[in-house]
Amino acid sequence: MSPQPQPGIMTIAAYVGGKSSVGSNVDVLKLSSNEGALGPSPKAIDRLAAMSAWHRYPDGGALEVRDALAQRYHLPVDRIVCGAGSDEIIALLIQAYAGVGDEVLHSEHGFSMYAISAKANGAVPVAAPETNLRTDVDAMLAAVTPKTKLVFVANPNNPTGSYLSKTEIDRLHAGLPEDVILVIDGAYSEYVEEPDYDDCLQRALDSTNLIVTRTFSKLYALGGLRLGWMVGPAAIVDVLNRVRGPFNVSSAAIAAGAEAIKDTAFEQMSRQLNNEQMARVVGAVRQLGINTHPSVGNFVLLDFGQAEKAQEADTFLQTKGIIVRQVAGYGLPTCLRLTLGTHDQMTRVLDALAAFIEGQS
Ligand code: PMP
Repeated sequence: MSPQPQPGIMTIAAYVGGKSSVGSNVDVLKLSSNEGALGPSPKAIDRLAAMSAWHRYPDGGALEVRDALAQRYHLPVDRIVCGAGSDEIIALLIQAYAGVGDEVLHSEHGFSMYAISAKANGAVPVAAPETNLRTDVDAMLAAVTPKTKLVFVANPNNPTGSYLSKTEIDRLHAGLPEDVILVIDGAYSEYVEEPDYDDCLQRALDSTNLIVTRTFSKLYALGGLRLGWMVGPAAIVDVLNRVRGPFNVSSAAIAAGAEAIKDTAFEQMSRQLNNEQMARVVGAVRQLGINTHPSVGNFVLLDFGQAEKAQEADTFLQTKGIIVRQVAGYGLPTCLRLTLGTHDQMTRVLDALAAFIEGQS
């Protein structure tokens, strides 16, 4: 008999990332992975350019970036753990707290790594139905069983862009048994300015079963370096520090991350650009007769009403060199997910969408 992987692993459909080429030599505009529109902070780039001691192992405690995060968000540094992207934190949490037959709960259109990491550990991903592309707190609570170990809510969620208010999070958290971990995935938190939104960082300090994960891959545009972090109860931090690799975060990520988090002017500029382009793009595509769903992230779902039409739009955009994200795998076959970019990039997308719609009539 040939070598066999652990139970559950062969049920995984491998993660499909956003495309980055269209197989021709057109000028490619990649808007398929929600990477920050402005690229990394120049301060992060300068810091990396000045580094050369690549033969040295990184600081296994990633202290420089944890210190910068602690100061920026007023958190105790010993409650922060860094990972090679928040994907690694998600995987470590599930590895540490869910085993064969346990359940990992997420919402219907939730980020796909929750189910992938659950299966990798022989656990069972359970999807609770959403209402109007929003996480439904009642449906989530109704799906909790004695086997549930972790509940994941991306807030805001990818790919829908919807978010839960502070009151809704309160209700979800209060309704969960104390031995179930609620993971608030804040990959897009930095973009949100809604007054009823809670980033849950303080709550993660005060609670025994709630964690917040964050990333440098989106607004800070450092996805290539792989840097994410979490804040949570001391006991869970202790567990993650036992299971993570001793040098799981590179010295490049630590240094660039520390510079990026201190560059609050860049953060503000990124958020402002995103707000401007969100309003502009949503207004313009609706005028073209394409529906959108409310989003507080740096991306928006374009809903073409029919799967065939979404497919045709994707093909058409690719002929113009524009790569967006297909989301049929998320149960949204009539939609495409567009990452917001710069003003000029969005002009190119809007012109292409207008040409597509014109060609249809
Ligand atoms: N959570 C959500 C909701 C995401 O959209 C992503 C990126 N697609 C991640 C986590 C993982 O990001 P990273 O591993 O780059 O931090």
